[in-house]
Amino acid sequence: MAAVAHLELTATTEWQQRGLCRANDSEIFFPPTHFEHKPEREAREAKAKAICAACPVRVECLTWALAVREPYGVWGGASEGERKQMLMGKRAVS
Ligand code: SF4
Repeated sequence: MAAVAHLELTATTEWQQRGLCRANDSEIFFPPTHFEHKPEREAREAKAKAICAACPVRVECLTWALAVREPYGVWGGASEGERKQMLMGKRAVS
């Protein structure tokens, strides 16, 4: 089991190196520490998703976020709410 965890960690580091969010404002991918109104959240997430749409590792990123049930932020072009829907089978994984 430890070997599997090591392989996942290695793979994660590799694709994250190529993520477009590394060269952009990473703050837009995660909720701020203060309360965020719905329009603010939607605008922030739209900016993050636009970057994800052009990212060469979007599929790897979304796969990872779903596998580890990443609780916060935009990963692979999907918000936390959208990923919850995917995990419940209420939304297609795309
Ligand atoms: S898909 Fe989005 S969150 Fe994932 S690495 Fe690419 S830019 Fe970052």
